[in-house]
Amino acid sequence: MKVTEIWKTRDKPTISFELFPPRDEPAAEKLEKVIEELAVLRPDFVSVTFGAGGSTREGSYNLVKKLLREKGLETLAYFTCHGLGPEDITSVLDSYRDLGVENVLAARGDPPHQRPDFKPHPVSLPHASDLLAFIRPRYDFCLGAAGYPEGHIEATSKERDLEYLKLKVEKGADFIITNYFYDNRYFFDFLERCHRLDIQVPILPGVMPIYSVKMMENLAKLCGATITSEIRDGLAGLPEGDKEAITHFGIDFAISQCKGLLETGVPGLHIYTMDRAKSAVEIVNHLREAKLLG
Ligand SMILES: Cc1cc2nc3c(=O)[nH]c(=O)nc-3n(C[C@H](O)[C@H](O)[C@H](O)COP(=O)(O)OP(=O)(O)OC[C@H]3O[C@@H](n4cnc5c(N)ncnc54)[C@H](O)[C@@H]3O)c2cc1C
Repeated sequence: MKVTEIWKTRDKPTISFELFPPRDEPAAEKLEKVIEELAVLRPDFVSVTFGAGGSTREGSYNLVKKLLREKGLETLAYFTCHGLGPEDITSVLDSYRDLGVENVLAARGDPPHQRPDFKPHPVSLPHASDLLAFIRPRYDFCLGAAGYPEGHIEATSKERDLEYLKLKVEKGADFIITNYFYDNRYFFDFLERCHRLDIQVPILPGVMPIYSVKMMENLAKLCGATITSEIRDGLAGLPEGDKEAITHFGIDFAISQCKGLLETGVPGLHIYTMDRAKSAVEIVNHLREAKLLG
């Protein structure tokens, strides 16, 4: 089912999880258990990332296939075009269409840092809006685009970034999933600015629980997310190196963030799981017990 249809048929906000393809056999075994734990929560859909420069092309396809065919989960396949030529783009998208994928999130992606010898195709598409324009007339996917409440890290200004987001909608995006943020005010401000620009498609907030301090710092540096003083102070008050305490802090913080988002009538919550189940399970169970999720 198309995710825009899912939102129309649910009377409560949806819950969805992002997964990435495993790097090796031990990670694949671990992921299998994670999928089992997450599937018990009956997510409305799950999403699968696509590695920079097509680096996880096969792994992404296999994970999408497993989730869709074996696990019976509605799946949103991410696809990034950076460095790929039209033949590669078409062959990946054809394979998803043939698998029965109905939902694709079209992003630009970044250069693959771990492959310094990577040579972009001479006619690759420069921006996500170009990818959306390429896909729209050729496929019947329900299409998503990436949005950035704090502005994309390369953007010259938040205003300019939002004009490009509007272009993505004009070129075919049916919905937007946002990058994560730790202060809901970034999201509310983003929503208001989207409405002012007449961006009318559903906007699904992305939520990244804190899994470890190192991961939080590294990811924030990569995508420009602000780590708030509330988080810094909260973490500073925990016994140093106590992983359990940090995970619990992250879960409690995410629950309170999700409650604030749900109060304002968001279409759902998209949890960046980093291929871990514990935090997502606790967050969703808590919100369901509070009758905030279906
Ligand atoms: C929900 C979500 C899912 C993601 N999934 C993946 C994934 O699976 N794999 C992966 O590698 N990465 C993924 N990313 C990360 C994403 O690929 C990076 O953030 C990337 O740097 C930008 O992608 P984009 O689609 O936003 O690009 P674009 O929309 O092309 O924007 C990139 C930059 O260019 C500017 N810009 C946009 N359009 C134009 C234009 N027409 N002219 C000039 N400037 C322009 C923007 O302001 C921005 O600064 C995801 C991000 C999100 C939020």
